[in-house]
Amino acid sequence: MSEKNEPPIDKEVFGKARCSFCGKDPTRVRKIFSGFHALICDECVRTCYGLLAESDIAAPVEEVAREELPPPTAIKAYLDQYIIGQDRAKRVVSVAVHNHYKRVFYPEWQKTVELEKSNILMIGPTGTGKTLMARTLARLLAVPFCIADATVLTEAGYVGEDVESILVRLLQAADYNVARAERGIVYIDEIDKIARKDANPSITRDVSGEGVQQGLLKILEGTVANVPPKGGRKHPEQAFVKIDTQNILFICGGAFHGLEPIINRRIGRRNVGFHSSPESLRNLTTSEVLSQVEAEDLLEYGLIPELIGRLPVAASFDELDAPALTRILTEPKNALVRQYQVLFEMEGVELIIEPAALQEIVAHTIKRKTGARGLRSILERALLDLMFELPSMESLKRVVLTADAVANRARPILEFAKTRKKSA
Ligand code: ADP
Repeated sequence: MSEKNEPPIDKEVFGKARCSFCGKDPTRVRKIFSGFHALICDECVRTCYGLLAESDIAAPVEEVAREELPPPTAIKAYLDQYIIGQDRAKRVVSVAVHNHYKRVFYPEWQKTVELEKSNILMIGPTGTGKTLMARTLARLLAVPFCIADATVLTEAGYVGEDVESILVRLLQAADYNVARAERGIVYIDEIDKIARKDANPSITRDVSGEGVQQGLLKILEGTVANVPPKGGRKHPEQAFVKIDTQNILFICGGAFHGLEPIINRRIGRRNVGFHSSPESLRNLTTSEVLSQVEAEDLLEYGLIPELIGRLPVAASFDELDAPALTRILTEPKNALVRQYQVLFEMEGVELIIEPAALQEIVAHTIKRKTGARGLRSILERALLDLMFELPSMESLKRVVLTADAVANRARPILEFAKTRKKSA
């Protein structure tokens, strides 16, 4: 509907106009939309939408060539292109994902032995690539992907989002193709925040923690969920769509502050009287400790045993040190530095970031304790004024970002040419 083509529906004409489909006038519906030759009311839009969702259910399953399922080594090699470090996590996840889709693509083998699915628990500090890894996997496998935040979920019936809202998002990511959604990947962030506050099962109902874990449990283990395709509880009239979560891969991530001492205590307890001493434990990095996580530690942390059972694969993520952060700035296929260079290139300007400037960005990021997440905002801040002026600056040829520009907001070095060519 371009503005030009819209029929002239002024108040007078509109007063008499009716929905071309059901015939109701504007006093009986909430909204009427005008097309070139027809009008449609909100109710008819909803009905059509429901019909479309139903026809999607009946749509034939889009065949994914199962012979193309990449082996773990290829999955890891792909992850290596986008994610720096996290080697151990990449290995664990590559195997789990390969096995998961083997189970999905070769259902006939299920008749021999029932293969359980391997949902994944990612443990590690914020900004270390957990979400990025989940997203990258979905891209490699060309399956729909969505991110949910465990902290906004509440038990059904309480204010907040129910667990089914996660599946609404996945359905949307699959363009309402139910069969595709049923093979998608869901990343549930901040799973550690819904841990029980104390390790004993609560007698009273616990809206934010245990109840949500119970709710999640159902969709994680595999159920046929009734999903309101439009989401929310605002549209009670909508037809539910059934989504089978059996083959959906759930990846849950969290920082799990306070888990490390729990693991350390257990390892310490077990090793009393044996060869190891607290000294040998002290040499382990946080991630090495976290990689030894066992079900009983997560139980002590406050996850319910059933949920732990549904997350059989645990991958621990390392804190990113300065060399890793520097690599993140420059190495991945879509590295931040490369992205800004392209933005400048489009204006015919070469962007050079001096190694000392990179170091300065990394040092600032480490202070912020937000993992790699801080890199972008620091780089953005250093280049903002320039990007503001760039498109209107004549004959600028090269920009050199110095450490001084990052640390003290000094102006980057600008080099001008006599004429400037625009390539975009
Ligand atoms: P979290 O571990 O909190 O889920 P994210 O995956 O969301 O962290 O990371 C935030 C951003 O930081 C990513 O989008 C990416 O740009 C960058 N990043 C984090 N870790 C890595 C990594 N290991 N390799 C490359 N980029 C990373």
